[in-house]
Amino acid sequence: MKQPILLEPCFVYLDNNATTRVHPEVLEAMLPHFSKLFGNPSSMHTCGGVVARQTEGAREALGALIGAAPDEIIFTSGGTESDNMAIRGVLESSPEKRHVVTTRVEHPGVLSTAKWLAAKGYDVTFLDVDNGGNLNLDAYRAALRPDTAVVSVMWANNETGVVFPVEEMAAYAHEKGVPFHTDAVQAVGKIPMDLGKTAIDLLSLSAHKLHGPKGIGALYVRRGTRIAPILFGGHQEHGKRPGTENVPSIIGLGRAAEMALAAIGDENTRVAGLRDRLEKALLEAIPRTQVNGNRDARLPNTTNMSFEFVEGEAILLRMNELRIAASSGSACTSGSLEPSHVLRAMGVPFTMIHGSVRFSLSVYTTEKEIGFVLEHFPGIIKQLRAISPFWKDAYA
Ligand code: PLP
Repeated sequence: MKQPILLEPCFVYLDNNATTRVHPEVLEAMLPHFSKLFGNPSSMHTCGGVVARQTEGAREALGALIGAAPDEIIFTSGGTESDNMAIRGVLESSPEKRHVVTTRVEHPGVLSTAKWLAAKGYDVTFLDVDNGGNLNLDAYRAALRPDTAVVSVMWANNETGVVFPVEEMAAYAHEKGVPFHTDAVQAVGKIPMDLGKTAIDLLSLSAHKLHGPKGIGALYVRRGTRIAPILFGGHQEHGKRPGTENVPSIIGLGRAAEMALAAIGDENTRVAGLRDRLEKALLEAIPRTQVNGNRDARLPNTTNMSFEFVEGEAILLRMNELRIAASSGSACTSGSLEPSHVLRAMGVPFTMIHGSVRFSLSVYTTEKEIGFVLEHFPGIIKQLRAISPFWKDAYA
């Protein structure tokens, strides 16, 4: 039998680090590019020229959000491709250097690339984090060597929201003559940035984390950075990323960037207020609960919390029955019962690590939604602990 399609599957959506709702204005800007504005931006005729100009407008809008010149932006299929292109493109351009520095808590877009490089014979340093998910900057400085080809350190962690001091780290890499890449997929639109004033050479971003469409992103490449293409084909994106442009999505990304720039101040403060209200109330209402990650250097929309002796998956299922969407780790690793590599790297205790939930808010999150979660969530944990043999052994 055919399953009915739920048009509004989530009433309370607190999984915005996995993906975000597309702004209606973004969709509206995209739609003509599926019908009358169908030209190929590379064509010589007017049908293509009109589209090419709009594509360049989107590039300018994205540049304004991150403080980059339009010619420093290369459109890609998203964060994962940008990460691969940055790291592999830089390595390709300096084959004599065989050392890479990254961290243990990167998204798989970087981490899997780094592991693949290690398997191919590159020397990869994976920097550790402390209990708060912070890097040790002395260890970072000590890791850089004359044969270091590239550093790749995320701006903000997708699971905990912890923000790394990438501007300071990039300045040090520059002193040593090492190109610096940052995966800023979770940071763009949530943290003000002006890349022209930093020493960051390469930055990955993705539209679907900022209320744009899925399958489109960009790589910022500072002028003068040596990077070889990893795909070969036509002349698009100055030959750095060939293939006919995904025009509707590029237009959507441009509009999403404009809207993110407008929301970056007051809206993010409002979102942080809601996140703090949720976190404080849950800490007060539920014993043996902790927040994972440095609460002073964090994205405004994210909290990662652990509830001792309960299974994160069981919590998610109960929440799902109430139409509350959240996550127990990154979307890419849910579906496996392995505890998150980020929380493991932070040394979150065994009794806590399995009971972790990530709540990630957005500009669409309301007081009412947070109130709904606060009304129901403590009861979910109470019920699950009542049937947990570990909880009974420890505290009953
Ligand atoms: N990097 C980070 C930090 C992410 O959170 C994600 C997505 O979750 C990605 C990269 C991958 O981006 P995309 O889904 O556009 O490939």
